[in-house]
Amino acid sequence: MPLPPFTSPTAFPTFATLPTPQDPDPTSPDGGGDEPWYLLAEIKDDMTITKPTLVCLDRAGSPFALVFDGLERDGLDLKALGLRKGACVVVPRARRTPPKDASKRGFVSVARGTAAEVRAVPAPLRTVVEVAEGLRAQGPQPGCAGCGSAEGALARCTGCGGVRYCSKACQVKGWSEGGHKGDCKVIKAIRGIWGDE
Ligand SMILES: [Zn+2]
Ligand SMILES: [Zn+2]
Repeated sequence: MPLPPFTSPTAFPTFATLPTPQDPDPTSPDGGGDEPWYLLAEIKDDMTITKPTLVCLDRAGSPFALVFDGLERDGLDLKALGLRKGACVVVPRARRTPPKDASKRGFVSVARGTAAEVRAVPAPLRTVVEVAEGLRAQGPQPGCAGCGSAEGALARCTGCGGVRYCSKACQVKGWSEGGHKGDCKVIKAIRGIWGDE
């Protein structure tokens, strides 16, 4: 699956623009398609009291609660899943539960059966979007991430598989000077969710 466009408000809606459980799929208003959409948000806090609950900020900077329904407070090891403060959460096909009281904001509920589809990317929202758009720009068969060469046999980074190098020297340079040290685990997580082929 190619990476979805991370700057698209259809593929990555904000909390306020999420469909409610009664709305049709936003990516196929006629109900005919099956394009997924994703809620991508930065985790601000773990507010678990009776069920696993995260307070998140969406890409518009709006806060909302993400509640894992049908689970006990210890029913999900949020930290082991990488769902920790400062990281991002990805909720496929998220829907917004409207508030009963109009003065409240509503929240996003994840049903027990779909909790396993919720994924984490270990970086703040801005970094995730930057790295993902960088991957999209380079395409599935990038040249050497160090020198740009597309000649000869390029070896993929064994950490993320998302960048390629022509030589050990370029790999070493890319890791430290090129900033891949910080991006490698982010690319790995993004590729683990969406792939890039
Ligand atoms: Zn190179
Ligand atoms: Zn890597």
